Amino acid sequence: MGNWKLNGNKAMVAQLITALQAPATQHPNVAVAVCPPVLFLGQAQALLTDSPIALGAQDVDIHDQGAFTGENSAHMYTEFGVQYVLVGHSERRTLHGESDAMVAAKFRAAQDAGLTPVLCIGETLAQFEAGETQAVVERQLHEVIAHCGIESFANAVIAYEPVWAIGTGKTATPEIAQGVHAAIRAFLANLDAKVADGVQILYGGSVKGSSAAGLFAMADIDGALVGGAALQADEFAAIISAG
Ligand code: PGA
Repeated sequence: MGNWKLNGNKAMVAQLITALQAPATQHPNVAVAVCPPVLFLGQAQALLTDSPIALGAQDVDIHDQGAFTGENSAHMYTEFGVQYVLVGHSERRTLHGESDAMVAAKFRAAQDAGLTPVLCIGETLAQFEAGETQAVVERQLHEVIAHCGIESFANAVIAYEPVWAIGTGKTATPEIAQGVHAAIRAFLANLDAKVADGVQILYGGSVKGSSAAGLFAMADIDGALVGGAALQADEFAAIISAG
């Protein structure tokens, strides 16, 4: 899944999506999705007619409609063929002060509209160095479970993104990432083994074409949420090929 963040223009959207059609078609066993900025969803939807590439949004408001200037609702996304929506990306948590409770409400709003939320969780560098990774991701998961129930993860994706690895060029080693992914799955399995077994857990944080295969070889790493490398067609194609 490519998270384009605040990048792109009409020409780039057309170029990138066109370039990704072949690799996505050649790997029908790999689920591919892109999350462009909201303004380009209509353009992306048109380009993705009959394409195996799915469309995602980067954030969602908790309300369906009303006096919420600047926001976009889950139902609006469904009109643009959007299937996924990121919730709780660390940039939203940090730059927009989104609390665990707010993220859980967004998760629910997405699911209520029929979208699949991609719940982003992960620890900061200070938390990583203090050995708090597991406690942090469990707290972030717990809030969603408390609001939406463990069964809600039957229709959700989890993205483990250590904040210290996002946009820094520092990827967690496959072993470190696998350790956290296994702990996430075990935490969910305590509540519902079947849901834990079925949920896709993506790794995010400076994933590149060259690091993808090592990550994907790990038992509990089911895919990647990709920022910077998703803006380069050849890099993203290499990640798709590694899937
Ligand atoms: P990055 O971003 O691949 O540029 O580290 C990942 C993300 O923030 O989803």
